[in-house]
Amino acid sequence: MHPPDRFTCEEVFARLDDYLDRELTAEEMRLVHAHLDTCAACASEHQFEATVLTGVKDKLRRLSVPSDLMARISARIAAERPGRGGLAASPSQ
Ligand SMILES: [Zn+2]
Repeated sequence: MHPPDRFTCEEVFARLDDYLDRELTAEEMRLVHAHLDTCAACASEHQFEATVLTGVKDKLRRLSVPSDLMARISARIAAERPGRGGLAASPSQ
């Protein structure tokens, strides 16, 4: 058995999701944090999962404003081609 004041890599891996969600006890949070400070393998796994989590939240946030972005892109395309907007590429205004 391992000493009670530290987690093994397997114990940290099993708790990474809950650690990222702040759903561990204060003691478990402390032990995971202490392990990540000293273990490069677990630290990089934690970094990867944290990046994926924030990336997903970031995408969900951006998905709520696509029409504004599309309008600006369309306007810019139209502005750069002033004399050729007669067919399907022309926005209906
Ligand atoms: Zn580890």
